[in-house]
Amino acid sequence: MLEPATTPAASNNEVVINTDHLKANLDKSCEPNTVNRWSVDDIVALFELPFSDLMYRAQTVHRENFDPNAVQVSTLLSIKTGGCSEDCGYCPQAARYHTEVENEPLMALDDVVAAAKEAKDNGASRFCMGAAWRGPKQRDLEPVLKMIEEVKALGLETCATLGMLKEGQAEQLKEAGLDYYNHNLDTAPEFYGEVITTRTYQDRLETLERVRSQNIHVCSGGIIGMGESRNQRAGLLAQLANMEQPPESVPINLLTQVEGTPLHGTEELDQLEFVRTIAAARITMPTSYVRLSAGRQGMSESTQALCFLAGANSIFYGEKLLTTGNPEADTDKQLFAKLGINKI
Ligand code: SF4
Repeated sequence: MLEPATTPAASNNEVVINTDHLKANLDKSCEPNTVNRWSVDDIVALFELPFSDLMYRAQTVHRENFDPNAVQVSTLLSIKTGGCSEDCGYCPQAARYHTEVENEPLMALDDVVAAAKEAKDNGASRFCMGAAWRGPKQRDLEPVLKMIEEVKALGLETCATLGMLKEGQAEQLKEAGLDYYNHNLDTAPEFYGEVITTRTYQDRLETLERVRSQNIHVCSGGIIGMGESRNQRAGLLAQLANMEQPPESVPINLLTQVEGTPLHGTEELDQLEFVRTIAAARITMPTSYVRLSAGRQGMSESTQALCFLAGANSIFYGEKLLTTGNPEADTDKQLFAKLGINKI
């Protein structure tokens, strides 16, 4: 287990940094992925490091594994909006909550392909298609398979987020050319029941196993700021980092509070705590892309810059992030220019 980041000196109550611990765990974060590398306590200890030490460690790990000035850019399109039967407490697309989201049926193939072309012209390398379903029925999946084929043919990486997958569906997605499947764990197992009751944590893990078994890249992360504790934030990261093969892509979302959803009115998370979460994700999953996802529209440029320093190296680019706002592509381009970031 990781020692406390700081130890009070017995004589005068000064706080001294335990540098052995820092070095040992820096080495640890660069090891090849092995199962159960990180306990929740280990990760809490990362959160508790002095901010500068945490950032230094995250930057060091980041630079050992990635070009520190390159950020992968994805575009996300909601191909079927609203009317979802699930009860995720943060989601304006759940049919049971009264939000301003209007239900829209599955988009036509031509419209999806046109949106993908536009995303490519704007510099996206990956195109993510999201549908508000508990999981796709076979009749829903078939048109989505066609979308995946056509988007792939444009030279874009493809990603889909369609809910829980049943046996045989990951195979069909693989066959269509799907590169990534997104399915978030959302939060730590201990907090999960406070947010969602219509599907279990185990359901989510099973979908991720189905995706992994087909050699489709896994995109899985969570939402921060839903009222969870720091331990629970660490618990989410432990779940992800301790997978036999951690997700290639780890979206870390800051809760976007939408009126009409149960989590509207949750106490706002300190943005530096969000930056700490990004840094802890980077250290515990050294070779994964850590994506700064929902919630970015509410962040200052300075906070976003801190997130990139902490090791975030992927964003969603474009006007809409499913049904909540996302900084306009031009604003992002300006920020990248200011920070000297290149798009991947
Ligand atoms: S997060 Fe997904 S599964 Fe949950 S209510 Fe929203 S659309 Fe449905």
